[in-house]
Amino acid sequence: MRPFAYVRAASVAEASRLLAKGSAAIAGGTDLLGLRKAHIAVPERLVDLTRIEGLRGCIRERGAGLRIGALTTLVELEESEALAKHLPIVREALADAATLQLRSMGTVGGNLLQRNRCWYFRDAAFPCWLKGGTRCFAAEGENVHHSVVGTDGGCVRAFPSDLAPALIAYDARVTLAGPRMRTTLLADLYTDPALRRREEHTIRPGEILTHVTIPDAALQRRGTYVKAMDRNAWSFALASVAAAARVRDGKLRDVRIVLGGIAPVPWRVEEAERLIDGEPYSDGLGEAAAEMLMRDAQPLKDNGYKIPLARELVRRALAGLAA
Ligand SMILES: Cc1cc2nc3c(=O)[nH]c(=O)nc-3n(C[C@H](O)[C@H](O)[C@H](O)COP(=O)(O)OP(=O)(O)OC[C@H]3O[C@@H](n4cnc5c(N)ncnc54)[C@H](O)[C@@H]3O)c2cc1C
Repeated sequence: MRPFAYVRAASVAEASRLLAKGSAAIAGGTDLLGLRKAHIAVPERLVDLTRIEGLRGCIRERGAGLRIGALTTLVELEESEALAKHLPIVREALADAATLQLRSMGTVGGNLLQRNRCWYFRDAAFPCWLKGGTRCFAAEGENVHHSVVGTDGGCVRAFPSDLAPALIAYDARVTLAGPRMRTTLLADLYTDPALRRREEHTIRPGEILTHVTIPDAALQRRGTYVKAMDRNAWSFALASVAAAARVRDGKLRDVRIVLGGIAPVPWRVEEAERLIDGEPYSDGLGEAAAEMLMRDAQPLKDNGYKIPLARELVRRALAGLAA
């Protein structure tokens, strides 16, 4: 392993200053250190964020929504009373994510900014498009875990995080501190390969994700998360669905359906959400919405199974919400 410097930042301002070109932020390290060992991420300096105060915990303030600090660990999220009360979908989404050990170290910011799991991307021997090469090896190669929708760009990676779809279903916003403070929709933190930019996230050099905010209005929704894995633990989603809506008299309103594991970015088709909004819910309506979500699917050599799988998960999630 090449030598590198390690610095503990005491404040967001210091971390931002240290995160010059050639440096990387590290929180729990559960993703970054693996990439470092595989020579995929080779920063000259790691800037440890974990000693920065004020970036941990979950707090609900009326009028300001629910705020989740970026350095909160995933286990702390699962144990948070504020989340159990106002955003139980998070516990559901994390129940089958990684392992207890990884969730004890892994943080909200790290989970939202983790890199994809494509084996060609994670192997330094393959100069894939995302790493600056000319081709996507997975498009023609081994692609059982890759995307079936949104694959028109240069990369067929699958979106890995379980937390992000659950938070996007509640219109989550993220605040980034850095040269300039900004707040953006969490959904906009992810770069669609169709834009032909060789990046997964829109975070810029020197930026630190400080917190996630869920607006008050979204907290009126009921939510559910369903995930299919190829084994019962330690496994990323083959497909996952976060669904949320206000439910009354058998009707779903203000609907959000966000899929993970099937596209390079969290996948939403707003037309499918509008289709069921305010209508008496039925299995037929759920199936029609699922069909619409997957209408542009283009299976690769090994992953056609994801299309019926995702449709079935959407149907189950919506039926669960309506019940
Ligand atoms: C075997 C295994 C199975 C897994 N299974 C799942 C799963 O099923 N579902 C799932 O969702 N995840 C899964 N994961 C991923 C795991 O949840 C992430 O590795 C973890 O959440 C990352 O958090 P971290 O704090 O360790 O991030 P780090 O490794 O410290 O950082 C990850 C990235 O985020 C950046 N970063 C971190 N925090 C900030 C911040 N505040 N501001 C700016 N940049 C930041 C780092 O620079 C780095 O690029 C799995 C991981 C492993 C190894």
